[in-house]
Formats: sequence, structure tokens, C-alpha cells
Amino acid sequence: TLLKPLYSTFSLFSSIAPQQRQQLQIGPHKQQQQGNTNEPFDPLSIIKPFIFSQYKPILLGWLCSLLSVLSLSQLVPKFGQFSSSIGKIDGVTLRNDGLVLAGLFLAKLIATYGQHALLWEAALNASYKIRVFVFERVLERELGFFEGGGAVSSGDVAYRITAEAADVADTLYALLNTIVPSALQLSAMASQMLVISPALSLISAMVIPCTALAIAYLGTRLRKISKKAQLSISALSAYLNEVLPAILFVKASNAEFCEIARFERLAYADLSALLTKRKMKAFIPQIVQIIYFGALSILCVGSMVVSSGCFDGCSMVSFITSLIFVVEPIQDVGKAYNEWKQGEPAIERLFDLTRFKSKVTEKPDAVDLDHVSGDVKFCDISFRYGENSPLVLNGLNLHIKAGETVALVGPSGGGKTTLIKMLLRLYDPLHGCILVDNQNIQNVQLESLRRHVGLVSQDISLFSGTVAENIGYRDIMTKIDMEKVELAAQTANADEFIRKLPKGYQTNIGPRGSSLSGGQKQRLAIARALYQDSSILILDEATSALDSRSELLVRQAVERLMENHTVLVIAHRLETVLMAKRVFLLDDGKLQELTPSLLGSHHSSQTFTGLVI
Ligand code: ADP
Ligand code: MG
Repeated sequence: TLLKPLYSTFSLFSSIAPQQRQQLQIGPHKQQQQGNTNEPFDPLSIIKPFIFSQYKPILLGWLCSLLSVLSLSQLVPKFGQFSSSIGKIDGVTLRNDGLVLAGLFLAKLIATYGQHALLWEAALNASYKIRVFVFERVLERELGFFEGGGAVSSGDVAYRITAEAADVADTLYALLNTIVPSALQLSAMASQMLVISPALSLISAMVIPCTALAIAYLGTRLRKISKKAQLSISALSAYLNEVLPAILFVKASNAEFCEIARFERLAYADLSALLTKRKMKAFIPQIVQIIYFGALSILCVGSMVVSSGCFDGCSMVSFITSLIFVVEPIQDVGKAYNEWKQGEPAIERLFDLTRFKSKVTEKPDAVDLDHVSGDVKFCDISFRYGENSPLVLNGLNLHIKAGETVALVGPSGGGKTTLIKMLLRLYDPLHGCILVDNQNIQNVQLESLRRHVGLVSQDISLFSGTVAENIGYRDIMTKIDMEKVELAAQTANADEFIRKLPKGYQTNIGPRGSSLSGGQKQRLAIARALYQDSSILILDEATSALDSRSELLVRQAVERLMENHTVLVIAHRLETVLMAKRVFLLDDGKLQELTPSLLGSHHSSQTFTGLVI
């Protein structure tokens, strides 16, 4: 019974029972691995350029560490002399010696401060650059990276870019703070010890390999545990990112209890991983302390040597002081090694996001589509999402002439949105090509293609910010044209409700536009597409959340736009579809044109879902 608590404290490697561990893995948020994570991956070579970019603060920091070690190596023998001369020399000399000592001590303090501050600056700057680099790469990735079965969840990506990038800063600092400074201090102090007594130095050096081995072993364990801890906290963050935005539904389904249970399970997994990690981290410095035992034994041996008259008390004091300062860098190396072992998985996971190039690429000689009349041609398009999934589009052909309005109907899941994704080159087709103004979009700069296509997507994305910022999203980094914003809002029939908001166009609409109703969000999204002023306009079920009065007004707006835009409407309501000159049914991956007679015979049915079924 006495041993039990002791055992539980020291059971570093098995703090969770295996069956419990297995249990924790279950749940909706198993960590998803990205891509071929088995490929060789050298974290050090990846972060090298980011470290090298900070050479100025690093070199200055190391210079400070040199100054610090220099003052220390002056300080140590002087301190030995000083302590043994007390009572033997006159007061004035003693005071002067004391002042010199104090000056050296102060110099060491300042230099050490400079060393830490500058090296932190370098580490944090590098981690900032890594963050920006990773985010840039993430945004460059094709849409498939973010959606579908094998995708990384946005919560996980967010966690990696926030918390894990911060871990990387800690690791970099630990590395920079050991490579040169610890080596300097170690060699300075060790050489002093050697000068004073080679025999005693050898005895103390014997302790070092044992501790080094122990630290190395624990380091590899720590790496594994750190990885686990990172995965568990990342899963927790991904979970929160999914559940909190769905809070309305959770409450409406009385699912708070179930969500709390799920949260608890994930949080517990994180707790146990962190606890194991912390216990191990607490253990490692204790091993380093063993070196102090070495110091103690030297003290015993030393006192015998002194009494036998081999060397004096002054050298003894210097030797012990040097020994203490030798242990410090060794301890730092141990710490840095641990930090690195913890940081490695963070670096891997962070850069894992950047390892694969986007599947949708721009050719080096891609052209800039300056002006577009809006002629769109889909030629024999086939597409599937995964290698083994069924074809969503299967040899589809469609020609929309400039200025024409075409409607697309079809069963849900028929591939209508997929077709739009092809046009925007969010995915590339398996076969076939898409021409805009007779130019294959694979040969067009992505930016210029997307500039000419205004999209009101099915899942409306609004951002926290003002109404004006959301409508003028295209110009958010430059200057939003308020006149255009209001005009777009009027055309989309959004002006009226916007003016009733507390601050009109300057009202903040909350995260994801959460303070607006579904129909209001849709009208804002339509206004945003209108503001973009592209020659091709796509409305993907854009009027589904509108009441019939608003829909009528939007329809009138679209009819006005039809005069000088190519419009592709995807809709279920018959009225919306009827304003198009041609209507196509997308089913089974193919298009079928619906003739007026076919349409007419179903005129009584209100929606196309009815028509299709
Ligand atoms: P629609 O817009 O006509 O309702 P979609 O184009 O959204 O249909 O979807 C067509 C089919 O492709 C559906 O069966 C859907 O399950 C599948 N699908 C859509 N997006 C993805 C994706 N990112 N990964 C895998 N399958 C997808
Ligand atoms: Mg759709």
C-alpha cells in the first residue's frame, strides 16, 4: 500500500489502461491522416530556411552569449580568489575586487538577457513566417483538400496553424539557445575545470554519458507522447469547430447531453496524453540532477586532495563553481533535446499541410482573360470525386452562348453544383474540357477566370464584418465603392432590410452572418455577386430560401441582368426556371434539354423535384 501511490506517480509510460485507451479512440473525430505521411520527412531541413532568414538576431544573440560566457569565465576564477582572500588582504583591495566582481556579474546578467531576448525574437519571427507560409499554401490547395472523405477538418488546420506553430517557436528557441550558447559555456567551464584538475574533471565527466543516454531514451518516448497529445488536442479543437456553429441544431435536438459526453471523451483523451507528457517532462530534469551527485562526490574527493595539499582552497572553489556552470548547459542541452522531440511532430504536422501541390495548377504560359463576352462551352465532361467513386458527370455537353440565360434542374445529388465547380476550376474534369470565349480554361490564369464568374453558392459564406464589407468583398483590401454596394443591394432586393438594420450598411453581421435570416443571407450573397460585376453569373439554388415575394423581386433583378450577362440558374421552382430560354435536366451525369412542351405538361407542378420524380 505504501508503494502504490509511488508506483502510480512513476508509472510514466502507462498512465492509461489499454482498454481505456482503445475506448478513447472511438468517436466521431478519429484523427485523419493526410496524404502519404510515411514518406521520409526531415523536420530540420524544412525549417532551415526559416531559421536562416533570422540570421541577424541569431548572430547578435549568440554574440551576447559569448559575452556572457566570457564574463562568466572571468568571474569564476576571480570569485575563487576573492573568497579565499577574505581576511587576508586590506579593505580597499577587497572592495575594489568586490566591485570588479559585481561589474562582471552585471555584465553577465545583461548579456544573458540580450541573448534570450534576441533568440526569442528570432524564434518567434521564424514561427510567424512559417505560419504565413503554411496558411498561404493551405489556401492554394485545391477544394478537394478541404471537402470530401479524406479531407483535413478545418478545425484541425486551424489548430495546427495556431497552437502547433506556437510550439514550433518554443522548439526553435530551445534549439537556438543551446547550439552555440550552451556549447560555449560548456567548453569554457570544462576547460577551466581541466586546467584546475584534470583528474577531478575526468571523474565528473564520467557521470555525463549515463545521463545523456537516459535523456536520449526518454526523448524518443517523449516524441511519441507529444505526437499523441497534439493529435488529441487537435481532435478536440476540430470537434468544437464543428459543434459550436451547429449549436442551434444541438439545442433543438436536445443533444446537449450527448455532445457533452462526446466532448468529455475527447477532453479525457487529451488529459491523459498531456498528463503522461508532463510526468515525463518532470522526470527528465531529475536525471540531469544526478550530475550534482557527481559534484558532491567530487567535493568529498576534493576535500581529501586539498587536505593532502595537492591544491589550494581557491582552486577548489573555482572548480566547484565551474562544475555548477557546466551542469547548466548540459541541462539546457537535455531540455532542448526534449523540446526538439516535442517540436518535431508539430513541425511535421504543420508542414504536412504544405507537402502536396494543388491538384489544380496554372500553366506557366496561362493567359489573362482580360475581357469576356460570356460564351461557355462544356465539352464531353466526365468527373468523379474519388478514384473509386462513381462518375458524377458522364460525357456532359452544354453550350451557353454569350448573354444567354440557361436553367439547370435535376435531382439533389445529381451533380449540378459539381458542374459549377468545374467551371470555376475548383476541380479539373477527368475527361473533356471547358471553354470560356473559346479559350480552354486550363490555359487561363485562375484569378482571371474566377474574376469573370460571379457565384451565389448554395452554402452561403458570409464573414464577420459589416454588410458593406460583405457585399464589397472583392475590394475589401482596397476601397469598397459604396455606390456600387448600394446599387447591388437594391438590385438584389436587399437594400430595404439593410436600411432597417441598426447601423444600416455599417452593421456588423456577426460570425458567418449569424445575425441574419436565411433569406437575408441569400440576398446579401446575390448582392455580393452583383457587385463583382462579372460577365458570367451563376445562381446555385440562390432563391431557395426566399419567400415568394422576395423571389419575385430577385427574379425581376435577374431578368434585368440577363440583358448583359450570361446567367446559369440552378433552381427547383418552376417560376425561376421559366425565365430561362433553355432548361436542362441533369440526371445520371448527362444533360437533357427540356422542351417547352415537356415543361408545359408539368406546369401545374410547383417544383422540379416533382417533375423529376
Ligand atoms: P447537386 O448540386 O446536384 O445536388 P452535387 O454536385 O453537390 O449535387 O453532388 C453530386 C454528387 O457528388 C453527390 O452524390 C455527392 O454526394 C457527391 N459529392 C459532392 N461533393 C463531393 C465531394 N467533395 N467529395 C465526394 N463526393 C462529393
Ligand atoms: Mg447543389
